[in-house]
Amino acid sequence: MVHYTLHIEHDTGVMLSTTLLVTDECLRLTRWLRLLGYDAAAQAARPLEALYLRAVNENRTIVTRTRAVHGGELVRVVTLRAHTRTDQLAEVLRALGDAVEDSSAFSRCVRCNTGLEPAEKAAVRTRVPAYVYETQSAFTACAGCGRIYWSATHWQRARAVMADVAARLQSTPRHA
Ligand SMILES: [Zn+2]
Repeated sequence: MVHYTLHIEHDTGVMLSTTLLVTDECLRLTRWLRLLGYDAAAQAARPLEALYLRAVNENRTIVTRTRAVHGGELVRVVTLRAHTRTDQLAEVLRALGDAVEDSSAFSRCVRCNTGLEPAEKAAVRTRVPAYVYETQSAFTACAGCGRIYWSATHWQRARAVMADVAARLQSTPRHA
């Protein structure tokens, strides 16, 4: 049984070092990868040339379900074969040699991929529900889209998914 104590890092969170370029058909997965701490940009798989160009220019590993996308000398590609969210996340982490890390989770905006910054409680007063303001003390803000995050029970679902992914990583052997 893996237990996670998730919290928002107020020091600079440990960011996962691999940056990703996830093709559009994996949009929901993109949000989960950001939640785990990956810098995960999204782009249409086609035209392939544009996808490869961005991957090279920004040094991003492509994550895709599109079989026509192939890796090469300059571009690294993780082609997803699994079908469930948990299996797909485990597939990406295994391919990259990463683990589920508390310290990197919740360091990035799941909506727009911008890194989160600590926010003063007083500064978020008008931007969060009153009950949240009353009961929470630690907040982070996204400078990209303005979304405010707080460590709270609403992350329980995410925590459960992360525990599932970690268990999957431990229980299945590496393919290569
Ligand atoms: Zn944002």
